[in-house]
Amino acid sequence: MCFDDEVALNVLSIPLSRRFGFDKVAWKPNKKGFFSVKSAYIVAREFSIGHIFASASTGDPYAPLWKALWKAKVPSKVAIFGWRAALNLLPTRVALTAKGYMGELQCVVCSQLVESLEHVFCECSVARDILSAPPFFLPLSTLPWKEWLLERATTLPSALFDKLLILLWSLWRNRNDALWRNHSQTSSSLVAYSLAWYEEYLQSQKSFNPTWAPLKASKRWLAPDVDTLKMNVDGAFLPSFQHGGTGGGGPPE
Ligand SMILES: [Zn+2]
Repeated sequence: MCFDDEVALNVLSIPLSRRFGFDKVAWKPNKKGFFSVKSAYIVAREFSIGHIFASASTGDPYAPLWKALWKAKVPSKVAIFGWRAALNLLPTRVALTAKGYMGELQCVVCSQLVESLEHVFCECSVARDILSAPPFFLPLSTLPWKEWLLERATTLPSALFDKLLILLWSLWRNRNDALWRNHSQTSSSLVAYSLAWYEEYLQSQKSFNPTWAPLKASKRWLAPDVDTLKMNVDGAFLPSFQHGGTGGGGPPE
């Protein structure tokens, strides 16, 4: 294993034991020094997930961005999208080349330039239409994408940063619609649709009553009389998403 100079100096400065003994391999995450898949999983999980959630207290320069993302009043799928976008984890065509993708590289929305993350959110004509104007001020000069997001997270009021997340998410969804459904929206309809959808989401959150609890059954369920079919049904409807569902069933045979 190769260490950088600083680590190597630290290793060399470790005082050696005066007692005679043989070197041995030890796995620090396990109290007895034994390696186990379980302990390796815990280390990997802490490395890949834990530092992100704990980044606000570890001197991570992007801590304000992570904090703004995780406290944003947006659907969780939008916050997770924002986190993946910030870390360049979205499957743009350029990103896919690192995984062996050999197909077209042009942007699926404008067909003008290669589809990198920066192109989708900073250069593509739809993105520029939506984000160049105040209050988002997408810069004309090339700015590293993550730096721009960090700057927006630290300068925009939280409500505007939340809207920015919604608009970025709608740009990515528009790109996916163009790729998989051969259909994309104009910038004006994209803004109108996504902000209306977001407003409805906010309203649904306001009307949500956390003290709600299922009604207690007033009486115990009773088996029906012989030769009588009894069916139990229930339903729910979520207006903000225009989705509902019902279910029903009878007692097992
Ligand atoms: Zn484009």
